[in-house]
Amino acid sequence: MTDAFSLPPEAVEPHLAVAARALGLLRTVPALAPRYAGRPAGLTTLDELAALPPLVKDDLNVALAHLEPRAGTGATWLFQSGGSTGAPKIGYAPTGFYMAGVHAHWQPLDRDDTFVNAWGAGRMWGAHFLAAALADLAGCRVIALGSVTREEYGDWLGFLADQRATAIGGTPSVLRLWFSHARAAGLKLPALRKVIWLGEAWQPQLAEDIAAVSPQARRWGMFGSTETWVVGTNTPDCPADTFHPLPEQLVHVGPDGLLDFTTLNPEMLNPVLRYRTGDAGELTTCPCGRPGRAMRVLGRRDSVVQVRGLGLHVDELVARAEQEPGVSRAQVVITEHGGRATGVDVLLLTHGSAGPGTAGDAAVDTARLRTELLSATFTLSTAFQHDPENFRVRAVEELVSNDRTGKTAGFVVRPADQEDA
Ligand SMILES: [Zn+2]
Repeated sequence: MTDAFSLPPEAVEPHLAVAARALGLLRTVPALAPRYAGRPAGLTTLDELAALPPLVKDDLNVALAHLEPRAGTGATWLFQSGGSTGAPKIGYAPTGFYMAGVHAHWQPLDRDDTFVNAWGAGRMWGAHFLAAALADLAGCRVIALGSVTREEYGDWLGFLADQRATAIGGTPSVLRLWFSHARAAGLKLPALRKVIWLGEAWQPQLAEDIAAVSPQARRWGMFGSTETWVVGTNTPDCPADTFHPLPEQLVHVGPDGLLDFTTLNPEMLNPVLRYRTGDAGELTTCPCGRPGRAMRVLGRRDSVVQVRGLGLHVDELVARAEQEPGVSRAQVVITEHGGRATGVDVLLLTHGSAGPGTAGDAAVDTARLRTELLSATFTLSTAFQHDPENFRVRAVEELVSNDRTGKTAGFVVRPADQEDA
């Protein structure tokens, strides 16, 4: 059983007091206590850890709402976490955001770098501040750019070229905007050597744009979630979907390849104990040659879908759409290109559907519903902040079903070349 873990028992068991403490905290949460009832109070072996039930979906938010943890020293930061509809669910982190542990094993930045922090700041988002903490540890120059509007890319790119920026970081979707704008405008960032990314799968198209704009730049990736913080990292020598877990992050591969994560970091405020992000993966050997078990991320397996690095609770979105008068069924269709969500469609089967061309549009105010869903769904409003037109709600005559099984799932992921199918 323990070979499904990223670390061997002798490496983990000395640090299981952290997991035991998380277990103790979770037992005090009224909504979660029953699932841990009857299990041993202690936690000293990897086999005991493997026998614990995983935390899923909103479990951590339920726990955190009860526990309200505080950092031992310094500030306690509140960040968006988990659930994707309604008000933001909250995760916590201390100043520093656990990046000292990341920096100890992974140093993409050094003192000579000029680092452009292009992760959006604000909206209780963690990545900008996490990257700032990494830059602090590296002692480099920092340009805290955040997000910019479409019209601003040209001017900023000129400024970054003047500043001889050597590194840039963002989600692949945001990086894509930067490099595609630069490429389209014929602008170069010749001094750029490092592209740091976190938040969603790497995009092959991005590599092509980077090659045109900054031929010497290479990618450096982090994998994590707002609940676990950074779990693993990779280098230009690793495949883009393969990460080396940090020693303070224990990765477990469960049924269906579902990954769960357990923190071994005593400073972690979120009680991350067998927490499933919805990502599937496998443990593997990385071709870069670094020893130890690496984690290959294969995508998602449950109704929490990663959309541009954010967890979208598809079931919640479908349920909300199906509350709308006139809607008999709803389906979420996510269009992907190169691992990136290019668009999200909510398809509505309506009572008023009456043949070609009508599709019940008159019965359901799709424009209003779209506005409501977008504003009420944090994942969508944030993921599509720069291109809200790529979130659509429309009435259709039939939902997308699987021709082979005849089933119509609550959500469908399809490649961009089938967009009009
Ligand atoms: Zn590697």
